Amino acid sequence: MNKYVLTIDQGTTSTRASLIDKDGNVFYKAQQEIKCFFPYDGWVEQDAIDVWLSVLNVINDLLAKTNLTYKNIDSIGLTNQRETTIIWDKKTGVPVYNALVWQSRQSAYICDNLIDKTSFVRERTGLIINPYFSASKIRFILDHIENGQKRAEDGELMFGTIDTWIMYKLSNGKIFKTDITNASRTMLFNINTLKWDDDLLKLFNIPKCMLPEVCPSSYNFGYASLLKKNLKICGVAGDQQAALFGQNCIKEGDVKSTYGTGCFVLMNIGDKPIFDQGGLITTIAWQIGNEVTYAIEGSVFVGGAAIQWLRDQMRMFKKASDSEKYARNCENSLGVYVVPAFVGLGAPYWDDDCRGAVFGLTRATTKEHFIRATLNSIALQTKDVIKEMERISNKKIESLRVDGGASENSYLMQYQSDILSSKVILPKNLETTSLGAAYLAGLASGYWKDVNEISKVHKISKIYNPKMSNEEIIEIDNKWKKAVAATRLFK
Ligand code: ADP
Repeated sequence: MNKYVLTIDQGTTSTRASLIDKDGNVFYKAQQEIKCFFPYDGWVEQDAIDVWLSVLNVINDLLAKTNLTYKNIDSIGLTNQRETTIIWDKKTGVPVYNALVWQSRQSAYICDNLIDKTSFVRERTGLIINPYFSASKIRFILDHIENGQKRAEDGELMFGTIDTWIMYKLSNGKIFKTDITNASRTMLFNINTLKWDDDLLKLFNIPKCMLPEVCPSSYNFGYASLLKKNLKICGVAGDQQAALFGQNCIKEGDVKSTYGTGCFVLMNIGDKPIFDQGGLITTIAWQIGNEVTYAIEGSVFVGGAAIQWLRDQMRMFKKASDSEKYARNCENSLGVYVVPAFVGLGAPYWDDDCRGAVFGLTRATTKEHFIRATLNSIALQTKDVIKEMERISNKKIESLRVDGGASENSYLMQYQSDILSSKVILPKNLETTSLGAAYLAGLASGYWKDVNEISKVHKISKIYNPKMSNEEIIEIDNKWKKAVAATRLFK
């Protein structure tokens, strides 16, 4: 009988389920959109029950369409939007508040009061203090429901990131666990001792009894007994960490960049964390057995979204993929630089207050140059993060593995390779997040023997080799630096 690993990818905009076979092929996928609510400026919430039902729906859809049964499933791998925070009642399993989505800034005021704790938090968690992470979101919910603090202290409430919530539901309330990568995004987990940190819990006044047990990413978490009595959940990781694993970035120094709405760049830094005071964060990449692997991470807020902006706001073309045709219709960007700081700049600048800018316009500038310059800006922002990674890790990257929607733009990928002077590698299967979750699950269940076997399954579709001269790179770097600096001055 054919067996597959069932992966659930619970993302911010949709939930996806897929079946992955022994050769790493995605056999089938199902998808359902998730609604977000924006009650006030900067607030982003979801209905946790909706999120849970979408998981059930995509699994049912998958099995119905493929005519398979749970007997064909070896194990479940789960990957998820990170940091999103849910608190529910232990007795009833009913959420006490909407899920606070990672992007939501409603708990910013809590973080603003903790600025003097920056290095304390960094040394323990590898993170910068920001409402992005779960700790201040938990505090916010406890402060905005009746008797929140007391109910939490009395053990009546449970907290989970999305992985914990889904496992809790799939197991009929029997599994109350999280994986170490998700724990590392809460700002309550000490990435040195690998335990919930009592001092951080005290700082946010969060009772430990509401936190789940932290487990390795590749591990038998328990049974999804709601689906089938002996169906095991064997792999769990946050989406970016799963993508790093799914890209086979298993050696120290391996780097991947995901070109979606934003760009997420992660570098495997091996078995020890590095704490840098610069603009990147340190996080746990995964734990397999007793071995913990760390990563440094930088996120660019506007990546593919800059192309969406050209399409929807500037109305320059109909499809995002048309951007490539236009970019190739001119020889160069004619000295135009676009800095798409529409919501400020992310890593390594962390400048919330600046806004987008364009430099170098002349009477000769055309739509083609403008589009080309915007595509270039995605690669240039990614380069800024990678340069910071090279500085922190003291290593020049050999190659960059890429995925996400905009990685299908071969003009952009060639430019990325050129300005980095590195190879850019596109995998055959772009569903690296689901693949990573499947690999983690299949390793624990015995579906794949070891990491070497997985490396053999991983296939490459295309390699871009750098072609640009050093002089040209220096000239571009110089102009880009000036463009970013000028953008940051305009406030
Ligand atoms: P997400 O997972 O964040 O929703 P995706 O990985 O689906 O993102 O990628 C979609 C993003 O990539 C959009 O912002 C879109 O504008 C951009 N994009 C998609 N295809 C291309 C392309 N061929 N060239 C440039 N940008 C693209």
